[in-house]
Amino acid sequence: MEIKVFPLISEEEIQNKVKELAERISKDYAKSKPLMIGILKGAWVFMADLVRKLTIPVECDFLRASSYGSSDETSGTVKVMLSSSTTIEGRDILLVEDIVDTGLTLSKIVKTLAHYNPKTIKICSLLDKPARHQTNINIDYLGFTVPNKFIVGYGLDYDEKFRYLPYVGYIEIAEKSKK
Ligand code: 5GP
Repeated sequence: MEIKVFPLISEEEIQNKVKELAERISKDYAKSKPLMIGILKGAWVFMADLVRKLTIPVECDFLRASSYGSSDETSGTVKVMLSSSTTIEGRDILLVEDIVDTGLTLSKIVKTLAHYNPKTIKICSLLDKPARHQTNINIDYLGFTVPNKFIVGYGLDYDEKFRYLPYVGYIEIAEKSKK
């Protein structure tokens, strides 16, 4: 099996966009100390760059959403596991995601967090694949729209590969021909 990566968004484009998003977030949350919650594992690279470009103080936490059902498609059922006992009540929450595909994971996370009575919940996603949306999801801070391909790099993996790439690309998998 041969996996080829085709670059889509360069490291420079990503860094410029992260700076732009950080400026908007810093302005919008100038009067509050938001709680940024990164969704593991894909969002940690993006979140690490994003928080270091902010000009306001923030608190950071992570959560893990595991889906049930078939392994490579997101099912409608998502179990949200928060990584610590951070208080959500009364806080301005900014969810940080790597990519919105069907949107089912994020809408489930928003619904679950709403039970803890936060003041606000907003979404920041590096990437969006609108062709795949199955739910009406509003991304407040969006980096880039991508085509309906399997995306890797800058935190996004394929079977734990390619997370380390400083750029974003898509993969194509070809069976190696036997001679
Ligand atoms: P959704 O619930 O929006 O369908 O799926 C969201 C999650 O699925 C993302 O956080 C990500 O982990 C994974 N995902 C969706 N599309 C892709 C993709 O093209 N590449 C990678 N690496 N992960 C994806």
